[in-house]
Amino acid sequence: MTKIKDIQTYDELYAVVKTYIPEIELNDISRAYAFAYEKHFGTKRLSGEDYIIHPLNVAYILTSINADSTTIIAALLHDVLEDCNVGEDEILDKFGPEVLTLVRGVTKINKLSFKSDNEATIVNYRKIIVGITEDVRVIIIKLADRLHNMRTLWAIPEDRAKAKAKETLDILTPIAHRLGMSEIKSELEDLSLRYYKPNVYFDIVEKLNKTKVERESLVSEMMHDVSTILNEHNIKHEIKGRAKSVYSIYNKLNKGKKFNEIYDLLALRVFVDTKDDCYQTLGLIHSKYKPIPKRFKDYIAMPKPNMYQSLHTTVFGINGNPFEIQIRTYEMDLIAEKGIASHWSYKEGGKVMQNAMEQKLQFFRSIMELNEEENKSTEFMNAVMNDVLKDSIYVYTPKGDVIELPLGSTPIDFAYRVHSRIGDTMVGAIVNDQIVPLDYQLKENDIVKINTNKNSNGPSKEWIKMAFTTHAKNKIKSFYSKIDKNENLKNGEEALNHEFRKKKLSFNSFLESEDLEKLLNEYNMNTLEDLYIAVGAGQITPNQIINFLTLEKPTKEEIVLNRNVHQIKSNINKNDIKIEGIDEIKVNIAGCCKPIPGDEIIGYISKGNGINIHRINCPNISELEERIIPATWQETIDRRYETDILVRALKEKNILVDIVSKTVGNNTIIQNINTIESNEEYLYEITVLTHNVDELRKFMTEIKKISSVFDIERSIK
Ligand code: MN
Repeated sequence: MTKIKDIQTYDELYAVVKTYIPEIELNDISRAYAFAYEKHFGTKRLSGEDYIIHPLNVAYILTSINADSTTIIAALLHDVLEDCNVGEDEILDKFGPEVLTLVRGVTKINKLSFKSDNEATIVNYRKIIVGITEDVRVIIIKLADRLHNMRTLWAIPEDRAKAKAKETLDILTPIAHRLGMSEIKSELEDLSLRYYKPNVYFDIVEKLNKTKVERESLVSEMMHDVSTILNEHNIKHEIKGRAKSVYSIYNKLNKGKKFNEIYDLLALRVFVDTKDDCYQTLGLIHSKYKPIPKRFKDYIAMPKPNMYQSLHTTVFGINGNPFEIQIRTYEMDLIAEKGIASHWSYKEGGKVMQNAMEQKLQFFRSIMELNEEENKSTEFMNAVMNDVLKDSIYVYTPKGDVIELPLGSTPIDFAYRVHSRIGDTMVGAIVNDQIVPLDYQLKENDIVKINTNKNSNGPSKEWIKMAFTTHAKNKIKSFYSKIDKNENLKNGEEALNHEFRKKKLSFNSFLESEDLEKLLNEYNMNTLEDLYIAVGAGQITPNQIINFLTLEKPTKEEIVLNRNVHQIKSNINKNDIKIEGIDEIKVNIAGCCKPIPGDEIIGYISKGNGINIHRINCPNISELEERIIPATWQETIDRRYETDILVRALKEKNILVDIVSKTVGNNTIIQNINTIESNEEYLYEITVLTHNVDELRKFMTEIKKISSVFDIERSIK
């Protein structure tokens, strides 16, 4: 099963890297090895080997996908931060910022401990790994790291081995699949199954062994026959029998197939030089052997989102046995086996290093086409998380074109995926010759026909709920945002007027003032109507406008209150926040809504900087559903957290001293106060340090007792 044998010495690694890495970069690799060797010296793994054997083999696995020198160096160093008391500075100094980013990334992922088997949490873990990774090479190193650990899994106690195996199947192999790295994915799956369900695994292995002689003779006879036909037509080719992975058989058995019904047990792969040869080969095979209907797939014309290309067919071959045949060029094979890593192999001559940005694009390429008309990065991330990490299905247009959609998609998603014009004019859907409702959930291999009527009134708003993909939902919303313009105009004017009244500001004098022009300039708008529309559509809140206007008045006063202001920095103690199933991850308190104990909170997975904790109603996270994970406060927290409140008072007298005096007898501490004076009111922005919501509420109630105060609220920026 193991295609890549483990190595024991650096010379073996060096012999491989020097075949494809530019000479000028080789010295750095040797330096990295020497450094890791020294740092790990004296440490053993549970398998009894010297520790250095592990990073050495992780690097060696990565040579099988022609990883660049930065990646190889980072692989050699991937455990030194965590295990050897090496500081980040030292790595930066000796190996540069790029290597440090990769090593730090792997360390960060390794620190996450995954310990839940609840389905929602597993999805969260995958989200976290992908979300916190700044450079896709981090994930690639992590996969190689896990692969070597899985190869030596026999050394650890059975229950722990089982847990590791399950974690690998739940979290890492789906990521490897998404990256198209089928070689590594397949080995990870087989190793995992062996420890996770040893009985099932060895049962399948035994069945395969029992039928081995018979299968091999059938396959070799078939290979010979196919080869003869191709030679007769002068097609240069190679044919290989295909070893079926144990895990893929397990999967099919799980779906209710019987062992002898699994078609691709008899499988071959034909390699040819060109795409034309692929189709010609297919034609020749089909003219000799009868194909099994619906088993033909053209992934050359319609590559899978992970870049996979091949022709697949199943034919009745020798003695009427079904044979699964894959036909591809050598180049397609490279992509099929190495996926995202394959472009490393394409680089010519010296420049193997890959620009990190380009790799990110590669990583997200499967949803790039969704992104054409969405330029907001939040929506983009949302689309990534929603659509990429879910399982997908393949369905067909009536012409036989393959469309990939996430599991859970409906005909609405299909229609918008094909073209937004089709979606906008859709009047019904036919799946496999049956009329279906528009919320019908599409299944693998469905043939979907969309009925359209160019005189239709456009999509129904109900469809937003029925659609599954962010792409379709956004298309429908954007259709309506055009229509809703008039409505937004009306609502925007009303909302703004209302807010002015509420804040006791004069709307009419605003309309006649210079402020209006300043405001329009600020938002790059030409007319008052534009402003109303933006407010009506929720792009600008009335509050933002009022804040802008009041801040314009220059009587801003910074007050330092010597006696009552305590300059305590409110850094979070990470043990104060619980995120289910995860111990070791950096947690930050969001500066926009500054949650305190007792607030309902939620975690937002940031790119490269751990998890940010927001209040559950914080508007800054509403668009980012897919990056959100549940979080709660620990029950016992005995320190103060920082948060902001806003106090509005009538413009009678400055009540600063009154506010400050309210801290007497209250545990809440005032850290800072800004007074903003406008024509109509005093606005106090107060930063406080408080233990929890109850304590803060008492403090706020006290302030409210001051007679001129007419409004007090927690602030969210
Ligand atoms: Mn490791």
